[in-house]
Amino acid sequence: MSNTYRPLIGLEIHVELKTKSKMFCQCDAEYFGKPPNSNTCPVCLGLPGALPVPNKQAVEWTIKIGKAFNCIINKITKFDRKHYFYPDLPKGYQISQYDEPIAVKGFIEANGKKFRIHRVHLEEDTGKLIHSRGESLVDFNRSSVPLVEIVTEADFDNEDDVVSFLKELHTIIQQYLDVSNADMDRGSMRMEPNISVRKPGEDGFPPYKVEVKNINSFNFVKKAIQYEIKRQTEILENGEIPVQETRGYNETKGITISQRVKEEAADYRYFPEPDIPPMVFEQKFIDSIEIPELPSQKLSRYVSEFKIKESDAFTLTRDGSIADFFEKVVGMTQKVAPQQIANLIVNKKLPVTPTVISEEEFVKRAEEQAAPKQTDSSVLDAAVKKVISANEKVVQDYKSGKENAIMFLVGQVMREMKGKADANVVKSRLIEFLTSSRA
Ligand code: ZN
Ligand code: MN
Repeated sequence: MSNTYRPLIGLEIHVELKTKSKMFCQCDAEYFGKPPNSNTCPVCLGLPGALPVPNKQAVEWTIKIGKAFNCIINKITKFDRKHYFYPDLPKGYQISQYDEPIAVKGFIEANGKKFRIHRVHLEEDTGKLIHSRGESLVDFNRSSVPLVEIVTEADFDNEDDVVSFLKELHTIIQQYLDVSNADMDRGSMRMEPNISVRKPGEDGFPPYKVEVKNINSFNFVKKAIQYEIKRQTEILENGEIPVQETRGYNETKGITISQRVKEEAADYRYFPEPDIPPMVFEQKFIDSIEIPELPSQKLSRYVSEFKIKESDAFTLTRDGSIADFFEKVVGMTQKVAPQQIANLIVNKKLPVTPTVISEEEFVKRAEEQAAPKQTDSSVLDAAVKKVISANEKVVQDYKSGKENAIMFLVGQVMREMKGKADANVVKSRLIEFLTSSRA
């Protein structure tokens, strides 16, 4: 019980998989930039009699996502037809999954909290409507591209947690599992928050929920949620109940706009897809799908193993290739502490992409920068005297004109100083000593 208005937020996220072919046919799954309707066949155009054949890679990748999100993978799963009429859906239904999704009951950690995943299922993307010059055109190149839908529980009560969660999910899918470009500008990751607000003293779920459709940036998700919380709270304060509906976010105005009154599951008249038999997975098969070390696991390992700051570990693990680079470099040098390497990368003191400089070059420069220079000249002088008296023969060689002998002595002093000296300073100091003792 609480005496304030409290938001209740859940999420639905759609991610296109970057398989080679589409979900149920052999057309190219990469449709971006292709001439309209050039990337189609009878299956993805939904022509009568065409038979869908599921893409095995897409099924495996959905299991991979489910496992990475700590889900239970259902051993028996099937596709269903979800009916609705819209011009971008030529069959009149979308092949999706209804009551037996591939994965259920998982969670992702973000901001130090666990947010539950309700389900992860596989479906097909729709075509795309293009509105131009008073006409509406439809492009089916995207039709039937494999699409994974992730649904969370309504576990969020503020927009910052939502954004942290979405960023974590994006990093896992794009950087670590490598199953989707998750490119929001190109629409391969789309986010839909559903928001309601509980009245003071109200527990459980409010009698309505508002879904904001197809948002393509973290920042717009945040703004849409802030706008909805304010709008709904005002309605509730007036003693009314917000309408259950689907709204769209208008980026330029920063507001949400009513689109349609929300459908119920019954409106879709789901039934099992008769052209695709249910899929039955053996445990062996599920176990064979491997999950790499995930960003949150890497982060804790960096903190415990390398003793680096948690905020730096966070930054390093956001990009898989930077994390790999960091670990490789740490393994290549004893002279630079992991925290110093992390500083160089995080503060962009040195370029980090292996394409710009090699790991070897990075290590060399890091060691140069890291070697703390001894500035106390009495320490240097002591080392110089020690080396001169311990190497009489070499000193004689130098004094009798073998100039190169000095380099041996420089090396000995550097060793004595454990590298914490500038070789040029050492050399000139040695020469001063040797010439003055000669005089
Ligand atoms: Zn096709
Ligand atoms: Mn969907």
